[in-house]
Amino acid sequence: MTHKITANKVVSLSYTLRDDDGEVIDQSEDGSPLLYLHGGQNIVPGLEEQLEGVAEGESLKATVSPEKGYGPRIGEAQQVPRNLFPADAELAAGMQVVAHDDEGRQIPFFVTGITEETITVDPNHPLAGETLHFEVTVDSLRDATEEEITHGHPHGPGGHHH
Ligand code: ZN
Repeated sequence: MTHKITANKVVSLSYTLRDDDGEVIDQSEDGSPLLYLHGGQNIVPGLEEQLEGVAEGESLKATVSPEKGYGPRIGEAQQVPRNLFPADAELAAGMQVVAHDDEGRQIPFFVTGITEETITVDPNHPLAGETLHFEVTVDSLRDATEEEITHGHPHGPGGHHH
């Protein structure tokens, strides 16, 4: 029986991600594929949609629009005083931080620059506004456990550790 990707399968993917210019943005390393729970929104929606029904061992190319990837660009990066952050906050460029507004709503943003005085924060994911070009191979898949389905992510090697 052929195994195909459907909801609640744990899927192991090898992938290369390129931008519109064909530059490699990201890729899985040899021997450490990406593990995700299909239907768990672990990966960008456009890729998850296109993987539905793909069989074990198959490869595909998937082009994903910003709307189904990391979103369109929203607003601009801005510099804020370093002292808005706790003194012991370990900040690094590329890090995602979640702030809260007056009503307690979560506002995620990305740290893109750090000086002694200021932190540059950007509301956009680094890949926001980019069309994503994936080449993926489905290395293997298996049924998710009840616990994985409840948690919404895979466990075990390559997955979440608690
Ligand atoms: Zn878990």
